[in-house]
Amino acid sequence: MKAKRFYAHCDLIEGTTDVFYCSFCNELVKEKHFDAEHLNKNHNQKFKATLHEWKLKESRGTTKTRPDDAPNRLRK
Ligand SMILES: [Zn+2]
Repeated sequence: MKAKRFYAHCDLIEGTTDVFYCSFCNELVKEKHFDAEHLNKNHNQKFKATLHEWKLKESRGTTKTRPDDAPNRLRK
């Protein structure tokens, strides 16, 4: 069985080309959501926070996985 993916803020959802995880809302959203709902939010900061959370979970042991090169809309 394939391990479940952990999604950090703004990670692209596997198997899609235009669906992302929004950690503010805990929802799967389209690109336009980020400007429509979170125009003045610091997405890089939120991304780093969720990634830090993930590292803690990983160090404690988790069945979820997140590749180091996970596609993310914040990566330019
Ligand atoms: Zn949102």
